[in-house]
Amino acid sequence: MSTLRFQALKETLNRKPLKITEPARRSEIFSSNVFNETVMRQFLTKEAFENVTEAMRTGKKIDRNVADHISTGMKEWAISKGVTHYTHWFQPLTGTTAEKHDSFFEPLSEGLAIEKFGGSQLVQQEPDASSFPSGGIRNTFEARGYTAWDPTSPAFIWGTTLCIPTIFVSYTGEALDNKTPLLRALQAVDNAATNVVKYFDKNVKKVNATLGWEQEYFLIDSALVASRPDITLTGRTLLGHSPAKGQQLDDHYFGSIPSRAISFMMDLEIECMKLGIPVKTRHNEVAPNQFELAPIFEEANLAVDHNSLIMDVMKKVGERHNLSVLMHEKPFAGINGSGKHNNWSLATDTGTNLLSPGSTPMKNLQFLTFFINTIKAVYDNEELLRACIASASNDHRLGANEAPPAIISVFIGSQLTKVLDELEKVTDGKLSPQEKTDLKLNVVGKIPEILRDNTDRNRTSSFAFTGNKFEFRAVGSLANCANAMTVLNSIVAKQLKDFKVEVDKLIKDKKMKKDDAIFNVLREYIKKSKKIRFEGDGYGEAWEKEAKKRGLSNNRTTPQALKAQVSKKTISLYKELEVMNKTEVEARHEIELEEYAMRIQIEGRILGDIARNHVIPTAIRYQNILIKNVTGLKAIYGDEYTRHAKEQLEIIESISAHIASINSNVNAMIEARKVANKIEDVEKKAFAYCDDIKPYFEEIRYHCDKLELLVDDELWPLTKYRELLFTR
Ligand code: ADP
Ligand code: MG
Repeated sequence: MSTLRFQALKETLNRKPLKITEPARRSEIFSSNVFNETVMRQFLTKEAFENVTEAMRTGKKIDRNVADHISTGMKEWAISKGVTHYTHWFQPLTGTTAEKHDSFFEPLSEGLAIEKFGGSQLVQQEPDASSFPSGGIRNTFEARGYTAWDPTSPAFIWGTTLCIPTIFVSYTGEALDNKTPLLRALQAVDNAATNVVKYFDKNVKKVNATLGWEQEYFLIDSALVASRPDITLTGRTLLGHSPAKGQQLDDHYFGSIPSRAISFMMDLEIECMKLGIPVKTRHNEVAPNQFELAPIFEEANLAVDHNSLIMDVMKKVGERHNLSVLMHEKPFAGINGSGKHNNWSLATDTGTNLLSPGSTPMKNLQFLTFFINTIKAVYDNEELLRACIASASNDHRLGANEAPPAIISVFIGSQLTKVLDELEKVTDGKLSPQEKTDLKLNVVGKIPEILRDNTDRNRTSSFAFTGNKFEFRAVGSLANCANAMTVLNSIVAKQLKDFKVEVDKLIKDKKMKKDDAIFNVLREYIKKSKKIRFEGDGYGEAWEKEAKKRGLSNNRTTPQALKAQVSKKTISLYKELEVMNKTEVEARHEIELEEYAMRIQIEGRILGDIARNHVIPTAIRYQNILIKNVTGLKAIYGDEYTRHAKEQLEIIESISAHIASINSNVNAMIEARKVANKIEDVEKKAFAYCDDIKPYFEEIRYHCDKLELLVDDELWPLTKYRELLFTR
C-alpha cells in the first residue's frame, strides 16, 4: 500500500476546523497594527507629523533631523505593541516580498543596553542583496543596492516585526524592484490626468490611480500537498487524471463555504483588519476548493503593497489551519484556473471618480474623455499590456482554452457602444450651436449616472468596463500587481499627455472652443481604436479568427509576449515618462526570460523524476502482480489459460506500452534540456524551453495519467485529483 498518500488522507479526514474568536466589531481592530494618522498624532511631534503627512500627500522629501523624531515615535509605538525587530520591506524582482529583520536591541558598555532605531535606519538601509535578480544592472554599474523608505505606504507590524515599506534601487538610481517604476508611473499619470481634468475642474490638484484587486486561490490540505512532490515544488500538479466529477455541476460556485475554509478566512480577515487591509468579500469560486478574496479598492501603490502583503499573510495563516494556499494560475488541469482581476480607475483629490458618469453633460464629457483615452491607450499598447501579465504559470490560462485569452480586447457594453457610435458622427471642425445642444442633450446627457447595473455582464473579455472602472482580468493570481499597474498607468499617462497637446493645438491654431476641440479629438480616437473593442464572447476560435483579421496580436507564450517589453516604442514611452530607462527595461526583460526558462526547467526535472521514480516502478509492481496471476492461471488451466487471462494480458501489454512511451519521452526531454542549457542568449534559451521542452510535458503526462487509470488504486503513490479537490 502506498503509505504517504494514505497517511495524508487519513490525517486530512481527521482534521477539525480551528475555532476563531471574532472581535465584537471588526472596525475596532481595523488598522491597529498600522502606523497611521491617528497613531502618528499620538507618537510624533507636531512638526514631524506635518512633515510626514506632507510627504505622503506630495512626495516631498523628509528632513534628516525630522526623520530621527519619526523613527523614535515609530519605535516607541512598535515596542508598546510587543515588537522587537524592524525590517525594510521591499519587492525585489523575484515577484515576492523580501525582508531582513534587525533587532532594536543595542548593547552599550558594561552590560547596559537600549532599544534603538534612528532616523538613518528608517530612511535608508543596505541589504546584502547580491542574490536578488538585477538583470545585470549591478554588474554594469558595479553598485550595491539600497532600500529607501516610501512614506506614501504606512509602516505596519507583522508578527513581532515593524515593517517599513521601501523601494530598492542601485546606487546609480536604477530600480531593482517592482515598486520604484510603479511610483514613477503613478506620478506620470497624476501629472497627465491632472492637466486634463483642469479642462473641466480647475480645483483639482492631484489624481490618484485606484486599484481594487480580487485574489483567487485554492485551499488544499497541507498533508495532501506534502504527498505530491509536484505541488510542493512547483505549485501545480504536473500529472493526475481528471476526476469523474470536476466542476461540471457548478455546485461549488457561490455555494456554502466549507467549514475549514471559513475558519481560515475568518482568521485571515482578522489579520487583514489589523494590518489595515480593507477586505470585504469572500466566496467560493467555480472550481472545487477554489476561493476568492477582495478588499475595497485603495490608492494603487497601497493596494499593490497590500496585495503583496496578503499573499504572504495567507500562507502563514494557512499554516495554522494545515492548509496550503495555492496561488498558481493553474494548479489543476481541466479545472478553472485562478486570476487576479485588477479593477482600476482614476480619482481626483476632490473625490471624483473620473471613470464614473456624472449628473450633468459636462461631467459626462469629462467621463468620456477619460473613458475614451483609456480605450485608445489600450489599443495602442495592447502588446505591452499582454507582456506585463506574461509568466510561465499564467500561460496556462492565457495561452490555453480558457477565458481570458492572450488577445487583449476591450468590452464596454451596449449602452456605451451606442454613445461612442453617436460621437463618431460629430462634425469635423467647429460644431454648430444646434449640434452641440443636441449632443449634450441626447448623447452625452443620456449616459445614466449609475451605469453599474446597466453594464452587460461579460466574463471573457480581458479588459472590461464595469460601470465605474475598468477591470483588467488577465492578471495572474501569482503576479505582483505592480507590473500590470506600472504599464496601465504609464500608457494612460502617455495617452492623456498626447490628448492635451492635441486639444490645445485645436484651441490655439483652429481657434476652437474647448468643448469643440475635445469632441473633435475624441471622435478621432473612437475611430482609431475601434478594433480593440469587442462585445462578443472574448475567447475561442471564432474570436481568434476575428482578432487576426483586425490585426490584434495573439501572443500565446511568454517568450513571444515579452518581446513587446523591449520594443523601441516601449523604451521611448518609458523614457518620455521617466518611468524607466533603457537599462532598467532591458534588465527586467532579461530577468523575466531567465525566470521563465528556470520554471520550465524545474518542472521538467520534477516531471521526469516523478514519471521515472514513482509512476514507472508502481506500474511495474502492478504488472508483476498481473504476471503472477497469469502464471498461476496457466499452472491451473494449461493451454486453456488464455480464456481466463485475456484481460490481464491486455493490461500487461498496455502497461508495457505506456512505460515505453514515458521512458522515451523523458529521455528525449532530457536531451532537449541539455541542448537548451548550452544556449547563452537568454531569449533563445527561453524559446527553446518553450518550444522544444514544454511539449514533452503533455506527452509524458498523458501516459502517466493512463497508467493511473490502469493500476490498482491501493498501489498508486500520488494523491489523486478527486482526493486533492474533494477532501476537506
Ligand atoms: P462586482 O464587479 O463583483 O460587481 P464591485 O463592482 O463591487 O463588484 O467591485 C469589484 C472590485 O472592484 C472590488 O474589489 C472593488 O474594490 C473594486 N472597485 C470598485 N470601484 C473601484 C474603483 N473606483 N477603482 C478601483 N477599483 C474599484
Ligand atoms: Mg472581477
